[in-house]
Amino acid sequence: QWIMGIETSCDETAVAIVKNGKEIVSNIVSSQIESHKRFGGVVPEIASRHHVEQMTIVIEEAMKEADITFSDLTAIAVTEGPGLVGALLVGVNAAKALAFAHNIPLVGVHHIAGHIYANRLLTEMKFPLLSLVVSGGHTELVYMKEHGHFEVIGETRDDAAGEAYDKVARTLNLPYPGGPHIDRLAQLGEPTIPLPRAWLEEDSYDFSFSGLKSAVINTVHNAEQRGEKIEPEALAASFQQSVIDVLVTKAAKAAKAYKVNQVLLAGGVAANKGLRAALQETFEPLEEIDLVIPPLSLCTDNAAMIAAAGSIYYDKGIRSQLNLNANPGLDISIHNS
Ligand code: ATP
Ligand code: MG
Ligand code: FE
Repeated sequence: QWIMGIETSCDETAVAIVKNGKEIVSNIVSSQIESHKRFGGVVPEIASRHHVEQMTIVIEEAMKEADITFSDLTAIAVTEGPGLVGALLVGVNAAKALAFAHNIPLVGVHHIAGHIYANRLLTEMKFPLLSLVVSGGHTELVYMKEHGHFEVIGETRDDAAGEAYDKVARTLNLPYPGGPHIDRLAQLGEPTIPLPRAWLEEDSYDFSFSGLKSAVINTVHNAEQRGEKIEPEALAASFQQSVIDVLVTKAAKAAKAYKVNQVLLAGGVAANKGLRAALQETFEPLEEIDLVIPPLSLCTDNAAMIAAAGSIYYDKGIRSQLNLNANPGLDISIHNS
């Protein structure tokens, strides 16, 4: 089975070929970060234009590296949502054109299902499992009792973790995307500045990061007004510890309550060194739970993860028609049976 994955939901134009749902044959990612940096965030119109310029080039490169022809493809998997509508449309239309021209089955994939399935490129998934999804737009705990079946048991009520990182970075005048910069500073400082942790209700697996973000901004502004300077390393370390405390504590609580066999980390914030270390420390002593942390290249947006998820949907008989549309608000549980 040869699946082509296509991903254009945000600022990466990505195409990959994955064999049998597990083996990466080619994985090309063209990033636009340089074009968005000076605006401090992704500009949707610029993103769409870049995707249009890069789409066919990246498809050709992925095919060339895989050394196969279109007639070898079993299916084309494409991110249909969530994401920026104009960006998604470029990938969806490219996938539809290829599917129509070469008479290949088409499978629409949820972007976050893709982030979770990045883990299948590393190891066998063991059910029931829990995935901690932490990305630029999402912070969720997703329970899976079997392949292709997703239950969101907790999610952020305001900002996503990555969004909070990027906003805090902006307050510290660090470049976009700020997550890696805060992470680096945090390794150099001590968490000496008291910041809030939003635990919410006792029995809730939901998250909230906007209060923490505001607390960081207020801390910086109040110091400025007093003519003092906050040590950025200490602030980054304090912020990071606050985020990680809540993420890891809630993930551990859910993993035990749902008696899962595996915990999978997913999404761009999974690149965070502090988070990776804290999860290892928490889950490694637990013999009954297997922790999987993908390498950085599979945490951030890529198309191999879309092909991996698409492979499972294909095997389940799920197909999209040629009227497939981009859906910025797509629900991850859409194909639960
Ligand atoms: P979504 O997947 O929710 O649609 P997205 O695709 O834009 O959003 P990703 O590409 O998965 O998000 O992740 C990007 C986010 O990850 C950014 O907010 C970035 O700051 C954050 N990030 C990347 N590396 C790190 C790090 N080392 N520490 C913290 N955050 C990080
Ligand atoms: Mg991205
Ligand atoms: Fe993503």
